[in-house]
Amino acid sequence: MNSNTQLSLFAEANFNQKDLIPTDRKITIPPHTYTDITELTKHCEICHRCGLSENRTHVVVGRGNPQAKIMIIGEAPGQQEDETGLPFVGKSGQLLDKILASVNLNTETDVYICNIVKCRPPENRVPTPDEMEACIPYLLEQIRLVNPKIILLTGATAVKGITGNKQGITKIRGQWMEWEGRLCMPIFHPSYLLRNPSKEKGSPKWLMWQDIQSVKTKFEQLTVNS
Ligand code: SF4
Repeated sequence: MNSNTQLSLFAEANFNQKDLIPTDRKITIPPHTYTDITELTKHCEICHRCGLSENRTHVVVGRGNPQAKIMIIGEAPGQQEDETGLPFVGKSGQLLDKILASVNLNTETDVYICNIVKCRPPENRVPTPDEMEACIPYLLEQIRLVNPKIILLTGATAVKGITGNKQGITKIRGQWMEWEGRLCMPIFHPSYLLRNPSKEKGSPKWLMWQDIQSVKTKFEQLTVNS
């Protein structure tokens, strides 16, 4: 067998391995598996790496600008997200859009939004560690492809899923931290703000206002320096 034939067989073996990603969670998703978000989305759409595939209507991969400097990562799709296939489109999403607009950040051009898991957990429960472990390799590829300078982690599940930090969100929100060479900030999940509507000084909404201004300042600094 000449070396060219051997090489082509090797390439074929690799190709088959990659094909198994959506059906076999034991297959890893190394960096550079996908060339773009479209290719990644095709795998997610047929994915059965965890049990959340059983009840989904749509896989929810992301929305916004896939070249954005800011990436926002939430927990998991809810009912409206499952119905539309888009993240953060329910009441929480509308509030998130308003928060971003308050500092002149546009959801479609300035940010890319996605979740820790891409299929809706039943009754909107928190995804299990097992489900997160199965899905996060897709997210890591998304982060590599979008290549954001800033990552906003909305809520404790997103913080835990990405950084492993298990501290309560009220303790660590608003703090810049570095993860894999990127700036990250934990922020409140918009659904928490919907449950706490007060705008008094020190309230969750007031704190979010401080945090989003800090994000905008950092975004502008990065834009000037890039
Ligand atoms: S949640 Fe993620 S790992 Fe689980 S089936 Fe959906 S896409 Fe696949």
